[in-house]
Amino acid sequence: MDRQKLVILGGGESGVGAALLGKAKGYDVFLSDRGGLKEQYRAELEANQIDFEEGTHTEERVLQATLVVKSPGIPGTVPLVQKLKAQETPVISEIEFAARYTRARLVGITGSNGKTTTTLLIYHLLKTAGLNVGLAGNIGDSFAKQVINDTFDWFVLEISSFQLDDMFDTRLNVAVLLNITPDHLDRYNYEFQNYVDSKFRIVQNMQSDDDFIYFDGNEPIKRELAKRSIPARHLPISLERALSPGGYFQNGELVAHNGDHAFTLPVVDLPLKGPHNAINMLSAILAAQSVGVSAEAIAQGLHTFQNASHRLEPAGQINGVSFINDSKATNVDSVFYALASMTTPTVWIAGGQDKGNDYSQIDELVSERVKGLICLGVDNQKLVAHFTGRVPQIFETQSVTEAVQKGLEWASPGEVVLLSPACASFDLFRNYEDRGEQFKQAVKAL
Ligand code: ADP
Repeated sequence: MDRQKLVILGGGESGVGAALLGKAKGYDVFLSDRGGLKEQYRAELEANQIDFEEGTHTEERVLQATLVVKSPGIPGTVPLVQKLKAQETPVISEIEFAARYTRARLVGITGSNGKTTTTLLIYHLLKTAGLNVGLAGNIGDSFAKQVINDTFDWFVLEISSFQLDDMFDTRLNVAVLLNITPDHLDRYNYEFQNYVDSKFRIVQNMQSDDDFIYFDGNEPIKRELAKRSIPARHLPISLERALSPGGYFQNGELVAHNGDHAFTLPVVDLPLKGPHNAINMLSAILAAQSVGVSAEAIAQGLHTFQNASHRLEPAGQINGVSFINDSKATNVDSVFYALASMTTPTVWIAGGQDKGNDYSQIDELVSERVKGLICLGVDNQKLVAHFTGRVPQIFETQSVTEAVQKGLEWASPGEVVLLSPACASFDLFRNYEDRGEQFKQAVKAL
């Protein structure tokens, strides 16, 4: 019999990982990338004698596939993918493909915001407890590459909605649904419900009370879960009210009860700050509890956790003014939480590529906490129009250096200059990491 033909669309970390896994599992593999491959990936494919093309998708070749693994960056609506679907070729995500080849149990995290923080934290708690755990998904090394030699007992997976869109049979043992707020609607036909449905694919294959769902106990998640009657233990998280079982934050303490174990810890000395991180920590505590991590290991892990850069990251102090790099905040909801974490008057640096932002949800916080708005973008019209009259002063620039100089000029000792852009970075920077790094450099140079 002919070998199964696996075509990979997109040659980034996940695509190249899927190609290597496919090769190891006996597929006839062809990788097609419409752009160009990174040198390291090209070398890896060549070393493993995997056939690939760059700069185009050769349609006849792609349409011969018996299975396609598609990069999450390619929308399902592009004509080539539509043709594959029309001829009933299965198109799946790298996570779906890799999950077929692991015996590890899976913890999956999704949400509009907080995925990376919560994923890293759960991974750290499981590691602190000495578990044999891997980290993958929308983060770090490709999941597929890591299951070629399937050595882990657990995987903690960050899963974006684009990855969920092409996930069908993957069964998660523990799922965390952090929050769902409008984002990426351009990929969902501008229908919020389509985006919500995508997020809920994370729980679609749960099977019993041995599976756990942790979720933000607010709308729309609560309503959507009620609609779906999923066979799993449901544990809500709230910042407003005590929930048991579930997780909540009260009187400066995190309290979590997963039905079997109770956990309480004051937040005062913990490295993660702000109400949004209380939600992230509660999800992580509950997830770790259900995996069997002891209260001691959870407490130790919460204290020793170091978050990824660009998320409310301290970026230095000058003349008593603190600079904070929250470059990862690429939507309005993230800015809401960033401003909610600020305890002193704040100079807010925002701007970049607008993603259909509606700023009205942060009006109240902005007028309470923001003493000046610095717009850092090519087109600042929308920000300026919305906030004129709502903040005492506005300054526009396309230079990071000028932005931090103005920030230092406007802020008094004890106050904060916060980069939390609410927008994508691609107008002036390579990506949000580049924006955050340039900000930190500019602060250093002050
Ligand atoms: P993601 O991986 O989903 O983009 P991150 O953990 O990288 O999330 O955090 C990105 C930004 O989102 C943070 O800088 C913060 O402003 C905001 N954020 C983090 N956690 C939450 C949360 N639970 N709810 C709302 N916003 C959050």
